[in-house]
Amino acid sequence: MTSDLRDLYQEVILDHGRRPRNFRVLADPDRRTEGYNPLCGDRLTLYLRLDGDVIREAAFQGSGCAISTASASLLTETVVGKRTAEAEEIFRAFHALLTGAERGEGKPVSLGKLEVFSGVGEFPARVKCATLPWHTLHAALERREEPVTTE
Ligand code: ZN
Repeated sequence: MTSDLRDLYQEVILDHGRRPRNFRVLADPDRRTEGYNPLCGDRLTLYLRLDGDVIREAAFQGSGCAISTASASLLTETVVGKRTAEAEEIFRAFHALLTGAERGEGKPVSLGKLEVFSGVGEFPARVKCATLPWHTLHAALERREEPVTTE
């Protein structure tokens, strides 16, 4: 990665960490799931409004480090308008980007803006900060009731 690109990625993460998008409670959500990363202390509640299998609205609240906040912010921007199956594919591709895990079968998914987190993979302690909102999304889509933790 060039240092220009690294700077740009860092800028996007800092911007979303400082001014998170969709940072609010969603009234009467179809899904409401909590996530917790004990390693860093990140906590969030993710809210989704669905229309059939399409995500119409996504919002979150909580307190966490800049990386977890930025990741949740970019998550809400990314998944709105997507079908739940597409959101799950993005979750798997994002997880693979950060952990080097197998992406599995199927056509490659474009991560778009989420590529800004690619450098986080170099810092294992921060990977859970970035993936927490996505694990929470995954649990919400699977209608799991219990809070998600990364441990
Ligand atoms: Zn964190």
